Amino acid sequence: MTGLLIAGASPYGEEPADILVVDGVIAALGPDAARDERAADGEIVDAAGLVVLPGLVDLHAHLREPGREDAETVATGSAAAALGGYTAVFAMPNTDPTADTAGVVEQVFRLGEQAGLVDVHPIGAVTVGRRGERLAELAAMATSAARVRVFSDDGDCVSDPLLMRRALEYVKAFDGVIAQHAQEPRLTQGAQMHEGEVSARLGLTGWPAVAEEAIIARDTLLADHVGSRLHVCHLSTAGSVQIVAAAKQRGTRVTAEVTPHHLLLTDSSAEGYDPVFKVNPPLRTPADIEVLRAALASGVIDIVATDHAPHASQDKETEWDNASPGMLGLQTALSVVIATMVEPGLLDWRGVARVMAEAPARIGGLDDQGRPIAVGEPANLVLVDPAARWTVRGEDFASLSRNTPYEGMELPGRVVGTYLRGRCTASAGVVAGVQV
Ligand SMILES: [Zn+2]
Repeated sequence: MTGLLIAGASPYGEEPADILVVDGVIAALGPDAARDERAADGEIVDAAGLVVLPGLVDLHAHLREPGREDAETVATGSAAAALGGYTAVFAMPNTDPTADTAGVVEQVFRLGEQAGLVDVHPIGAVTVGRRGERLAELAAMATSAARVRVFSDDGDCVSDPLLMRRALEYVKAFDGVIAQHAQEPRLTQGAQMHEGEVSARLGLTGWPAVAEEAIIARDTLLADHVGSRLHVCHLSTAGSVQIVAAAKQRGTRVTAEVTPHHLLLTDSSAEGYDPVFKVNPPLRTPADIEVLRAALASGVIDIVATDHAPHASQDKETEWDNASPGMLGLQTALSVVIATMVEPGLLDWRGVARVMAEAPARIGGLDDQGRPIAVGEPANLVLVDPAARWTVRGEDFASLSRNTPYEGMELPGRVVGTYLRGRCTASAGVVAGVQV
């Protein structure tokens, strides 16, 4: 039995240590690893100077299959994820057909297995067709081969309070969680960007912060009332942070995510009317960014999730009003988190592991991902070169779409290798042996 020896990497950016992987599991760690006879004739990866973290887990990605295979497939999204340092990705259900039955979630799950680059966990729709009228077959999805634990109508809000209450009650039986896209629909009709000074100057219809905050306030109260787990998707305003902080203080079972783009980009990006910056919820203000970063550092916001949203060029490269909202995220998320959180000293590498691997795995109900780097644990790992800088080129991405808001930007930190249960899925920009 031969092993894989990852030599000299620094777990969580701390003291360098050798890691021996045998049969997909961390078999030895530290000085014993290189001396272990199973390391003798196995592969050795020189990882001196690199940081090793648990493989990243994305609780919020759009892989577009079935239905929009021109924008992304489970295979191309998986490749983008592996290149971005991910070993598990949750796929949102706004596909065509909607992932609202055991059949569709099992289809997505199997496509993930076939691609074999990351663990793909389908998220089930809360309501049939995501139409917000009646509950989907949540239990059937939970007991399917895909073992769905996260449910969301993402893209749309479960705005009917009675349906939201019923959904929260329903998933309690199998410790599921409702991931809410918090957007009061009446307050955001025709909305094009954050409502504020910039929208007023540009004459674009505003998406007010209160439309997000009102739903989060309501849903945290509902979660209290029924004692269920609520997860708030892509939290984007300072007011939302206050509401989640207050709820957590009184013991609400609520978790929250922020996207990399909401940590870095502001509503002034809209000034050039380039629809690559159109996203839902919209980019907010510098004051919001400051509060979001502090909340991620303090733990009020639990995780970073990409909201990776590939769009075909005909849907995105059009006039602002008609462009689909959304941005690519899987191949840039870690670098944006390094730029916005690690470099300014708000998070250390342990913190990155917490918000990008451990907490998302826990919220999503995974027991084999987001685990500590320790003997006996599955070898889901990512090697990061913290000193590297790179320039974003959308055309180099594995994603089928090109809608990255970071085009031409220089970002810090580069994924050097990703390992799924000890198997290399991406190395130096190459996916599982295929140049992309
Ligand atoms: Zn959403």
